[in-house]
Amino acid sequence: MSTGFFKVPIAENEEIVNYAPGTIERARLKQTLSEMWSTVVDIPMIIDGKEVRSGNKIAIRPPHDHKHILGNYHRGDATHVQMAIKAALAAKSKWEALPWENRASIFLKAASLLAGKHRSRINAATMIGQSKNAFQAEIDSACELIDFYRFNAQFMTEIYSQQPESAPLTWNRMEQRALEGFVFALTPFNFTSIAGNLPTAPALMGNTVVWKPSNTQIYSARIIMEVLMEAGLPDGVINLVFVSGPVAGKEIFSHRDFAGIHYTGSTEVFQNIWKTIGENIHNFKSYPRIVGETGGKDFVMAHSSANVEQLATALVRGAFEYQGQKCSAVSRAYIPESLWPSLKDKMGSFLSEIKMGSPEDFRNFFNAVIDEASFDKLASYIENAKNDKDAEIVFGGGCDKSIGYFIEPTVILTSNPHYITMEEELFGPVLTLYVYEDDQFEETLDLLDNTSIYALTGAIFSKDRYAIELATKKLQNAAGNFYINDKPTGAVVGQQPFGGARGSGTNDKAGSVINLLRWVQPRTIKENFRPPTEYKYMFMQEE
Ligand code: NAD
Repeated sequence: MSTGFFKVPIAENEEIVNYAPGTIERARLKQTLSEMWSTVVDIPMIIDGKEVRSGNKIAIRPPHDHKHILGNYHRGDATHVQMAIKAALAAKSKWEALPWENRASIFLKAASLLAGKHRSRINAATMIGQSKNAFQAEIDSACELIDFYRFNAQFMTEIYSQQPESAPLTWNRMEQRALEGFVFALTPFNFTSIAGNLPTAPALMGNTVVWKPSNTQIYSARIIMEVLMEAGLPDGVINLVFVSGPVAGKEIFSHRDFAGIHYTGSTEVFQNIWKTIGENIHNFKSYPRIVGETGGKDFVMAHSSANVEQLATALVRGAFEYQGQKCSAVSRAYIPESLWPSLKDKMGSFLSEIKMGSPEDFRNFFNAVIDEASFDKLASYIENAKNDKDAEIVFGGGCDKSIGYFIEPTVILTSNPHYITMEEELFGPVLTLYVYEDDQFEETLDLLDNTSIYALTGAIFSKDRYAIELATKKLQNAAGNFYINDKPTGAVVGQQPFGGARGSGTNDKAGSVINLLRWVQPRTIKENFRPPTEYKYMFMQEE
């Protein structure tokens, strides 16, 4: 029981380390990278706080050097998922009964460990395991994850402090119970911070969790788990299993105590999960919470008044940072005819300078795509574009998987605004441009709005206030995160709560009050200080 109305420290965004030459942080990061590169780690599952080794070892290889082995993880099966569910359910009553300040302290401590002694480890693991350059790793696995932990603790107290009004002689109270049962966190490869947030946001609110990360993110997932345990997370609160998605799904989505899923990943997987949950709805104790942030076909809309340098920078950064493997990455852009020649020159000069290679070489802006399946998919779309009359490869188009999974930053120009790469999410460094006649701005906004099933992020570039206003109105439902004269990537926790609607997810805005509200079950309590003693009402009396 708490004996004070505690205030958590006011959350502030973690400052980004720049890793410039000569800095101590750069030297430390390079040292950690070289140690990690030369050590083969054995990665067990963590169930009920214990290391679990199945003996079925799967090698982990860096995407930019697929012959090298970084370690092996122990692949589990259905029995491990059952163990994890059991552990989560067993840990539940003690965890949810723990006064909230203890839960907040654990995640605030985890944030401070990530900001301090584990910063270079989490960044190096993300750089090597997911092929991210130092800056991209820093803004993801260090800063964003730290921000999630600090801001969520503050948002939790905002939720708890929201209380109803009370009429005279009564006291109305609202308590935010954890969900009944366990929560399943199913996480993607592309952001270490998302992998670290999806299991912990429900846990912060008093839930216990089964966490299944993407196979291609296990190398950094193990460090998140180590940090949480070092921060004092009790056994069984988060249980980390390495199994295939369908194996996890089969056990979890038929379990009576399944209380919710916190998912980020592709749209198709999410839609199948939703369907399975619907088919099993009669089995569950409660209606499970379904929270999913999924794919995008994120856009930049340029008006003829746009500044070409700003537009070219936004397109190159927005489309090609982390090889276009951000859910928010620009993958389609609408360019007015009058700007296309100068934009082409500017983009061409930027792209000709970009160096591609391993993230351990800090001169490389651009690294490898995540795995062979992704490489093959991207290469086939690029090959098709080379042979299609509707498409022309303006920049890039080269693909080479002999050492690592390298795809050049590729720009396709299409004459067909419904060309396949204007509509489908490829999730890689492929940007498709459609050039429209300057006086067709308004019609092109309608075209953009009706082109893709997604509505995650998008941007308008213009100096003309009427054009900005028109785009903002017409594209009201085309993006959950909309930018004016800025690239549509790089959302910051506490500043631009992130998520999209339509085919892009449930838009529950990770790292915000909106998201945390999905992991609680409110109970209203009314207490009466003068309960009535007569059942009759005044109107029933004689005249
Ligand atoms: P993915 O869909 O391949 O995998 C996501 C998770 O689901 C992984 O843990 C995976 O193992 C699991 N999974 C795969 N098939 C499954 C199945 N049949 N049943 C149960 N689980 C299954 O996604 P990914 O490649 O890891 O991530 C990229 C995708 O995530 C892109 O579509 C991207 O747009 C999206 N994403 C969205 C956001 C957002 O906030 N909207 C953020 C990051 C990534």
